[in-house]
Amino acid sequence: MRWDLSVFVKSVNPEKIKAELDSMVRAANVIRDIYSGQVGSMDAAGVRKLLESLDSFSLEFDGVLGYCGLRYSADSTDDVAKQLHDAMRNAWVKAGQALAFAEVELGKLLLEKPDLPAHPELRNYRHYLERALNRAPHLLSEREEQLIMAKDRNGIGAWSQLHGDWLGTRTFRMRIDGVDKDVTYGETVGYFTSPDRKLRRGAFSAVLEGLGKDEMVFSSALRAVSADHLAMCEWRKYPDPMTQSQLSNDVGSEPIAAMMRVVERNTSLYRRYLRVKAKLLGLDRLGGWDLMAPLPFASKSSFDWNTSRAMVTKAYADFDPEFGRWVEEMYSSRRIDGEVRKGKTPGAFCHTWMAGKGAFVLQSYNNRINDVYTQAHELGHAVHAYLYTREQSPANCDIGSCIAECGSTFGELLLTERLMAEAKSKEDRQVALATVLDELGIAVFLVSARYWFEESLYEAIKREELLDGESLSRLWTSCRERLFADELEWLPEMRFDWTRPPHYYMPNYRFYNYPYVFAQLFVFSLYRLYKEQGKAFVPKLRVLLSAGSSRSPAELGEALGFDIASEAFWQKGMLQAEEFLRMLEDTL
Ligand SMILES: [Zn+2]
Repeated sequence: MRWDLSVFVKSVNPEKIKAELDSMVRAANVIRDIYSGQVGSMDAAGVRKLLESLDSFSLEFDGVLGYCGLRYSADSTDDVAKQLHDAMRNAWVKAGQALAFAEVELGKLLLEKPDLPAHPELRNYRHYLERALNRAPHLLSEREEQLIMAKDRNGIGAWSQLHGDWLGTRTFRMRIDGVDKDVTYGETVGYFTSPDRKLRRGAFSAVLEGLGKDEMVFSSALRAVSADHLAMCEWRKYPDPMTQSQLSNDVGSEPIAAMMRVVERNTSLYRRYLRVKAKLLGLDRLGGWDLMAPLPFASKSSFDWNTSRAMVTKAYADFDPEFGRWVEEMYSSRRIDGEVRKGKTPGAFCHTWMAGKGAFVLQSYNNRINDVYTQAHELGHAVHAYLYTREQSPANCDIGSCIAECGSTFGELLLTERLMAEAKSKEDRQVALATVLDELGIAVFLVSARYWFEESLYEAIKREELLDGESLSRLWTSCRERLFADELEWLPEMRFDWTRPPHYYMPNYRFYNYPYVFAQLFVFSLYRLYKEQGKAFVPKLRVLLSAGSSRSPAELGEALGFDIASEAFWQKGMLQAEEFLRMLEDTL
């Protein structure tokens, strides 16, 4: 259950690793010396040479960067890991500064020669260049870009730091097993999914009461961060507060608008699920603190590592034998770190190893059903990485969040199929279906409410409304009502829920989470297609996942016969969601 990172580097000797980081900075400077100042007069062949040398640079130092990053996430208390991580970040910043000329100069060239991406010489870089062209009109001068970075560090960056520090240093009073205790934010959040309803309610109450007491701090922060964004939109000539996020996710505004209209039209579907969930929990009505509650019998089943390994591997192998072999290789080559230990990064992630055409996965495996799902999810990212690193060069491995979650979310549905097939009782089936529908509830519906809140925030600022703690709370509760109507019970302090999501306070994270809605519904539509077409669908998914970022989400949808700008497409995903709900209702 521990991974082996030695394959990343020729030697794990820390001095040799530092030397390799130094040579990375030197290599970046060499590229700058050759090409900087030259890009403006380049023809297609010249651009290709530049992009190819950037690609070889990425491949050459992919291993050492991966080693330093992953070793630190595996144990942040290890002094050597800490040193190497620091050295890596410094070297990375230096290399980035050296190579910054490429984006700026390429942007200018593309504005002069907008046909360049279509040049046959640049076939491999077509969409890479199209994206650079889309960003180009919004780039400022090198000096202005440096100024923005400097102002962000002590400006909106500091608000985000304050938010993190506040959450990291406060304790919250909770009654646990009859005793009053002061617990940290991390521990309190852990109780949000507790099987004990009183603990869940107590955890939400304690955290949001605490945050609510300092609403003045958070409303000032949110006002400043949002107003700063609107000011930057003007500087960068973004037509809309969402433009920046759409550019980085490689989607247009029509698909997102169509998707959000479909979510709004289907909120009753989520409420229908919540009524079923209330029944399964033996309650008349759910509270806002019950959304992530596990079903009563879910906590009884336990899955050891080998059971999970067998189940997840089979789930992928049944879909495509090669997927199954790659997943098995992830276990047998020790590319997964599942052990629970101190100093390890919380949560889970998958790291793409471009140079090795593979991936590494980190999670803290606790034998719960959710851990099996996390494993299937991260290994879906791994399969995705196996496919696109075989087909694409590094320039086409910069996958926007909308598509990045496709392999992983699809993998979760394959696991659900497996669990349904192996289910021995009605309760087993209920647990599998509720897991899928809970995630849909959070990733599609709750995230949409947060999206509506962010939208209403910018509208309020444009109307020059006063935004204090109470008016922000009113904005949030009205978005909450758009989703839940009066289906749920809420604690008064839950009106302060807008104070909690860290990404609201981070620089350059505006409209950060609608890609989750995108990925869930996109994959539900794909899954429906799979159910309709059976094995004929398998090569289609392989093509989609192999494309990396060489094609836009709209083009990838088109290849499958989908028009992502149409509401009908997104409704297809909702139909699949309803299908899962009907299966769950049938068990009642
Ligand atoms: Zn993921």
